[in-house]
Amino acid sequence: MKFNFDDSMVKSSILLIYTGGTIGMKMDPVEQTLQPFDFSQILEEVPELGKFAYRIDSCTFESVIDSADIEPRSWQALASLIEEKYDSYDGFVVLHGTDTMAYSASALSFMIEGLTKPVIFTGSQLPIGVARTDGKENLISSVEIAASKDSDGHALVPEVCICFGNALMRGNRTRKTSSENFRAFKSADCPLLAEAGISIRYNSSVIRKPDDWDRKPVFHKELDTRVSILKLHPGITPQVVRNILCGPETRAVIIETYGAGNAPSKKWFLDIVKEASGMGKILLNITQCIAGSVNMDLYATGKKLEEAGVQSGYDCTTEGALAKLFYLLGRYTGNREVIEGIGENLRGEITK
Ligand code: ASP
Repeated sequence: MKFNFDDSMVKSSILLIYTGGTIGMKMDPVEQTLQPFDFSQILEEVPELGKFAYRIDSCTFESVIDSADIEPRSWQALASLIEEKYDSYDGFVVLHGTDTMAYSASALSFMIEGLTKPVIFTGSQLPIGVARTDGKENLISSVEIAASKDSDGHALVPEVCICFGNALMRGNRTRKTSSENFRAFKSADCPLLAEAGISIRYNSSVIRKPDDWDRKPVFHKELDTRVSILKLHPGITPQVVRNILCGPETRAVIIETYGAGNAPSKKWFLDIVKEASGMGKILLNITQCIAGSVNMDLYATGKKLEEAGVQSGYDCTTEGALAKLFYLLGRYTGNREVIEGIGENLRGEITK
């Protein structure tokens, strides 16, 4: 990428990683369909990037994908790429489809322990080649945030984040809440890490910092995906509950409960929960509510779940809980260590 300044003026170096999604699409005038454009030409599409005194390199995932096709092996590839390039850049911006961005940002947050540089996920609701696109603003703010350092030269936001609609959110606290609005994501239980207005205002008291800035992060790429999700609803049947909780391929199940972590108090339901628990399944209670925490001591129906061996997921999102379980199960073969990890605030994913 060519910029109008020499190397001595470069303040930060950023790697843009394009994985796919709407942001990198342009209307093909012949086919009249959205097609990914050559990402090495990003400066042509977003010339504003050239005004920063940053070195910006870009690379494209081997096959550009709609984020509905993201798999844990994509996260492993992303983690490997960041690990390989870690010393060469001050920050990383990952361009990703919005549909599963919250899952990917959650996964990367657990896979990288002791992060000292920003990893900012962004995307857009409208393609960058469309006049009213939100992609340019999202990309420019992400690059500026990924490049920002304090007077000691330390990154201002050494976290895995999502930057979208002028808001910087902790990745593992974020949910896609709108398929239409430019403010497509929400971080209900964690304050914004920064907000982009006339200037970017950082909320430094919320931003997590590494224990040791000089220590290289540890990349945990082993993931165990034997996790299921059971969403409770009135009318759910014993067959469905048993199939999901006691499935032979499952090591852990996220139970999406009502309100503060409540579930039916019917005997058949609690019997199946106890049966699954007795089989050694790890059961995690996550609320269906968009905000607020599980508190199994509040109502008798929650208390019964706790007595049946279900762990509290506190105020973790389902996306965050899934990623946390993939990571913990990949790291530990024993249930004791996994359960201990569930109760800990590992990457700012729970309020504790
Ligand atoms: N389906 C697209 C994706 O998630 C939507 C988007 O990028 O916003 O890849």
